[in-house]
Amino acid sequence: MDLSKIKGSIWFDGEIIDWQEANVHLLTHTLHYGLGVFEGVRAYNTPRGSSIFRLDDHTDRLFKSAKTVSMKIPFSQIEINDAHKTVISLNNLNEAYIRPMCFYGSEGMGLRADNLQVHCMVAAWEWPSYMEPEAREKGIRVKLSSYTRQVRNPVSSAKVNGNYVHSIVALNEALAEGFDEALMLDAEGNVAEGSGENIFIVKDNTLITPDLDASLDGITRRTILDLAKELNIKYEIKKIKSEDVFNADEAFFTGTAAEVVPINSLDNILIGKGRRGPLTEQLQSTYFDQVRGAREANQGWHTLVE
Ligand code: PMP
Repeated sequence: MDLSKIKGSIWFDGEIIDWQEANVHLLTHTLHYGLGVFEGVRAYNTPRGSSIFRLDDHTDRLFKSAKTVSMKIPFSQIEINDAHKTVISLNNLNEAYIRPMCFYGSEGMGLRADNLQVHCMVAAWEWPSYMEPEAREKGIRVKLSSYTRQVRNPVSSAKVNGNYVHSIVALNEALAEGFDEALMLDAEGNVAEGSGENIFIVKDNTLITPDLDASLDGITRRTILDLAKELNIKYEIKKIKSEDVFNADEAFFTGTAAEVVPINSLDNILIGKGRRGPLTEQLQSTYFDQVRGAREANQGWHTLVE
């Protein structure tokens, strides 16, 4: 699907513009150097209508990423949140993927440009499943990437556009070899994350996820940890090695786009029984119940569109 051909409206710098006319100049600074910040957010259909999941947390992270790279967003968090709701309702969407991004314009070129304006956009469209829909049950085949993830660097820990060059190269390497996703290690050999997902493993009924030294502070990761607490599932946050993944009983990735997806093998070696394990299934179904408004708990995570 060519995204530029969708019919609809996009929020851009406080205005609503026609989807197919939503262009920027070729000399847009962020297009050249990748210095911009963005989020990936989802809205779900709930019994009370379309609801954006953990919108405040996503917008907080957007502003935090911007602060990390000294970008001043010329809108308030409330205005950006309202823009999310606007694009959902204007485009008559129920379930949607939402992409806010703040970027530098074409007011200057070169790394020293000091007259750049910060522009913001929010677009929403239907993007039901990031991976093959069967992956939710069958799981995915993951390659241990030959690319390493940078450690303890505030910029690499933020959701900055340019960081994703690295993720895409790692993902493409995995896809070219017939895998579905890449798992990156950091330079010290600790498990970091997928190209766009955090990782969890299960060993002896304990859920384990790496600390945030070499991964994004994923909002789905936070959600899973909170749900584990509610479900009385024991969990640990600690550094793990690839051997721990190979020897795990279960493993899964989490992310707003990927949601909760089981990992059935790493480098063609089956993890556990090579299919979705019981704890993964429990957390996955609780996650979907939560985002679709089927749970009483955590009402604060839902932002109703109307
Ligand atoms: N790691 C990376 C590199 C990502 O791009 C994402 C997706 N934003 C995640 C982890 C998962 O984050 P979240 O659950 O907030 O979508």
